Amino acid sequence: MSSEMNVITENLTALKQEMPQGVLLIAVSKTKPVALLQEAYQAGQRAFGENYVQELVEKQPQLPADIDWHFIGHLQSNKVKYIASFVHCIHGVDSFKLLKEISKQAVKNGRTIQCLLQVHIASEETKFGFSPDELRTEAASFQPADYPGVELAGLMGMASFTEDESQIRSEFKSLKGLFDELKSGAFSALASFNQLSMGMSSDWKIAVDEGSTMIRVGSSIFGSRN
Ligand SMILES: *Cc1c(COP(=O)(O)O)cnc(C)c1O
Repeated sequence: MSSEMNVITENLTALKQEMPQGVLLIAVSKTKPVALLQEAYQAGQRAFGENYVQELVEKQPQLPADIDWHFIGHLQSNKVKYIASFVHCIHGVDSFKLLKEISKQAVKNGRTIQCLLQVHIASEETKFGFSPDELRTEAASFQPADYPGVELAGLMGMASFTEDESQIRSEFKSLKGLFDELKSGAFSALASFNQLSMGMSSDWKIAVDEGSTMIRVGSSIFGSRN
């Protein structure tokens, strides 16, 4: 490796070497300037994750069109319209009302948008998402035909903010269990239901161990955020 190789490229290379095949790396670029995303793009990165609608809408036109944009933050129904024309996947879908609005805006734009249902698995009160029981109940009456333009692609979750690895592992395990249950049960007719988005800089290895197919990594690529 050349000594001029930049830090972002080095970080991406190191991550890729440790990741198993078949897991998608989403580079979480929230708060980071476009120049840094360009460096990651130059290094071959194509999936980027952003948390804020306004920031995503500003960055997207400044970057190459073949980027897959993943919206990973909390999305309000009234903001779906600003990202529906280009967003590839929305990770934080925490109600079927929001899914309905995504469907409406996807159809309006002649697009299909991947969606992941967010499940609350952490011990903290503050994190968004369905409770497992709530999702079981709602999934039982789910009709894909009611949501044109939406590809229900799987589940997403965030573990507790803790040093306790066994707690993190058991939270990821519970999400994988729910995913398997829905895949063979309520969502068994959905060929698209294949993705499990779990794991961030601090816990992605545990997440991958427990069956994650998409990891959302920010600070280990771009450095810590202010
Ligand atoms: C910020 C964020 C990440 C990335 O966090 P890092 O610790 O910087 O890797 C992943 N997922 C979500 C939902 C986030 O908000």
